[in-house]
Amino acid sequence: MAIEKTFSIIKPNAVKKGVIGDIIKQFEENGLKISAMKLGLISKEKCELFYAEHRERPFFGELVQFMTSGPVVLLCLAGENAILKNRDIMGATDPKKANAGTIRAKHGDNVGENAVHGSDSAASAARELAIFFDKHEICN
Ligand code: GDP
Repeated sequence: MAIEKTFSIIKPNAVKKGVIGDIIKQFEENGLKISAMKLGLISKEKCELFYAEHRERPFFGELVQFMTSGPVVLLCLAGENAILKNRDIMGATDPKKANAGTIRAKHGDNVGENAVHGSDSAASAARELAIFFDKHEICN
């Protein structure tokens, strides 16, 4: 199986709760290595670009407001089958529907404030990583 890279965000509600370490531990215990990591605020402009596919959805304004409301952790995760593996570790979008033990089941508050983002395809991973990281910031 090929080594893939995927993009993850630890969202503002999870950073606020102090569970960065717990989430990263869950990635590492499942064979995902950190290739790049930054903590900080994201701008409204970058956030709107990142979530462009949701621009027409009724929750878009709320989503951008939440994602820019406090610091986030931006991550590049690498490993075998990393894109799907990360989606499994995260759990379903709505924390109430996420399998027990997944990050969203443990740390998500509601469908919007669901603790983590993870790319859903190779194309999304490449697009999203390029928004937040320069090539030289990603280690192999
Ligand atoms: P994901 O791939 O599991 O993150 O889910 P989607 O691509 O469908 O949605 C992107 C993000 O939009 C989700 O992670 C949520 O933070 C947010 N979102 C999705 N549905 C809703 C909703 O009904 N209300 C709000 N406020 N946010 C939502």
